[in-house]
Amino acid sequence: MSQLRFKVVDEAFNRKADPVSIPAERPQEYYGKYVFNRQRMFEYLPADTFKALINAIDNKEALSREVAESVAQGMKQWAIDMGARHYTHWFQPLTETTAEKHDGFIEHDGKGGVIEEFNGKLLVQQEPDASSFPNGGIRNTFEARGYSAWDISSPAFIMGNTLCIPTIFISYTGESLDYKTPLLRALNSVDRAATAVARYFDPEVRHVKSYLGWEQEYFLVDESLYSARPDLMMTGRTLMGHESAKNQQLEDHYFGAIPSRVEAFMLDLEIECHRLGIPAKTRHNEVAPNQFELAPIFEETNLANDHNLLLMSLITEVANRHHFRVLLHEKPFAGINGSGKHNNWSLGTDRGVLLFAPGKTPKQNLQFITFVVNVMAAVHRHNGLLKASIASATNAHRLGANEAPPAIISIFTGSQLSDILERIESTSNSELSDLNNREGLRLNVSQIPEIMLDNTDRNRTSPFAFTGNRFEFRAVGSSANCASAMIALNSAVAEQLIDFKNKVDARMESGESLRDALLEEIRELIRVSKPIHFDGNGYSDEWKAEAARRGLDCETSVPVIYDAYLRPESIRMFRDAGVFSEVELKARNEVKWEMYTKKVQIEARVLGDLAINHVMPVAIRYQSVLLDNVSKIKAIFPADKAAVMSSTEMETIEEISRHCRAIKEEVEAMVDARRVANRIASEREKAIAYHDNVVPRMDTIRDHIDRLELMVDNEMWPLPKYRELLFIR
Ligand code: ADP
Ligand code: MG
Repeated sequence: MSQLRFKVVDEAFNRKADPVSIPAERPQEYYGKYVFNRQRMFEYLPADTFKALINAIDNKEALSREVAESVAQGMKQWAIDMGARHYTHWFQPLTETTAEKHDGFIEHDGKGGVIEEFNGKLLVQQEPDASSFPNGGIRNTFEARGYSAWDISSPAFIMGNTLCIPTIFISYTGESLDYKTPLLRALNSVDRAATAVARYFDPEVRHVKSYLGWEQEYFLVDESLYSARPDLMMTGRTLMGHESAKNQQLEDHYFGAIPSRVEAFMLDLEIECHRLGIPAKTRHNEVAPNQFELAPIFEETNLANDHNLLLMSLITEVANRHHFRVLLHEKPFAGINGSGKHNNWSLGTDRGVLLFAPGKTPKQNLQFITFVVNVMAAVHRHNGLLKASIASATNAHRLGANEAPPAIISIFTGSQLSDILERIESTSNSELSDLNNREGLRLNVSQIPEIMLDNTDRNRTSPFAFTGNRFEFRAVGSSANCASAMIALNSAVAEQLIDFKNKVDARMESGESLRDALLEEIRELIRVSKPIHFDGNGYSDEWKAEAARRGLDCETSVPVIYDAYLRPESIRMFRDAGVFSEVELKARNEVKWEMYTKKVQIEARVLGDLAINHVMPVAIRYQSVLLDNVSKIKAIFPADKAAVMSSTEMETIEEISRHCRAIKEEVEAMVDARRVANRIASEREKAIAYHDNVVPRMDTIRDHIDRLELMVDNEMWPLPKYRELLFIR
């Protein structure tokens, strides 16, 4: 039985780095090679088509039929020149992965042969037979049609030999069935709202863009070890496994050398990223053993998110090539750090100004403060919703766990920004006028490095941190589609900015100066959003109590956290921002609850099987070895002596029995709990039943198994142990 374990451990530990074929050219030469970017558009499209397409992209306008037809021809030609044979609409259903259905370019030529065909209609719109994607009941089976439509703001690309066209995915009645549609709507909404406010400071501003720089954390496991762990294979995390004596205590992984196998993989991945136009820049070890991170240079949010999704498929493929399996799960291993996907987020004008960065003049700094306090107010108002936007069955293992952000949203600002906010709050407008010079507001250019400094030493326990020129939403999970968080955040900030502008305008109508009106409203926002501001240790128990006193959302049950989407203030906010209708919100929550239930259900089944079929038989076999030994001792030695000699074995024998009995009882109880939960019709109630009655049993079962792991003969233990899984040679 254990032979398999020793075999795979041996294979894993003896594996050498795979060679990487490094292109002869420099990155700038192959960067974006597989992307139909502006350069390719220029080369492959007639001049007037090119102009019309760029105009439509830049001004968010629709394409005419003729232009689409012409673009399709050029795109097809490029794809064929690149060796592509198929095309697909690439979209983001509510499953956290991307979906595609490949079609060949070939069509009958009417003479018994085929030609390679692709037209504007196929480019612009398709009807994937998508009745199997989650839709929360929006599409009944008799109307199981949705359609995908080209998102011209994200360029087409080639993966393998398939031309991939980024698309939105909606039902025939217009409801979104994906992440991209509401994300684009949220980005439009924040563009409009932020542009209106930015014009107070610069009337020439025409658009405000939202930027996203994600940091993808992941674990690597050798493929042989992975294949000997059914739990990893089926759920993406280990459902059992006693802590390794050594894990991250020595903090030796973070800045340690990257193992050569991993380095080869990373290099390969980076080259692939660059070919696909993903600006991968940073790579390093993370806190936990076998944990790593990849971060690109930030981009506009919609594109950055497409790139993250692309990266998640790419990383899986490249890892496989190097005999690794990549784990994007938030918590593959208990007891050590989980994986997040920090979302570095900012807003910037089309005039090149980052709105969360202090500037050189008092005016720019007033603008900076304006935007920062509006974000704080929005996060405060919708803290429960923002938490719901990152909550999932998998992220739940990371949120609230010791080494991760707690399940409470708060904002870390750092002492510099805190001081500034305090001074603005406690100083009258007229006095602030002298603060508006260099020394006064303490926000001139010479202070920027100081702010950065302050924030590099920043608080790592905060789920939402100001980091010098951006905010970093850290609670996002490593396996998530960032769009979920970005939709909620950008929409909430849009709502807040609209509200702010209305109030400032009203003050100006009654005779206040712009500056006074802004400062009054800023002061008000500083005051009301105080409860969200927390620079202390977010992992402490005191903070949990304090947060509850401050009225922040402290709910920890994921199915209940999702309720935040259906609160009147959320429904109103999303409706006004034009992001979600109430029907969409309800449908999407149904999907969230269903997904939650399914994930827990699968884990519970796998755990039950492993407990009964893998662990118990081995424990019992070991027990019978001990029993055999005891009976031999008793046969040979006098009774009193034998009793002393076999006392250790006897204790172990009894303990094994106790654990096995407990496992059996708990597995039965867990199966019963599932049976009861499965009969509940409401998706919400069902998910809650899974959370309340199934998850705790899984924890108990694991506990008993992990104890057995420590007792049973190492030679017999069937599953690779943490100490074997976690250290790449
Ligand atoms: P750290 O790990 O210290 O947070 P990294 O360099 O790993 O920093 O990641 C920071 C991420 O933030 C990168 O993707 C970077 O491009 C991005 N970023 C930097 N400035 C901004 C900004 N103004 N808006 C959005 N993202 C940004
Ligand atoms: Mg970071």
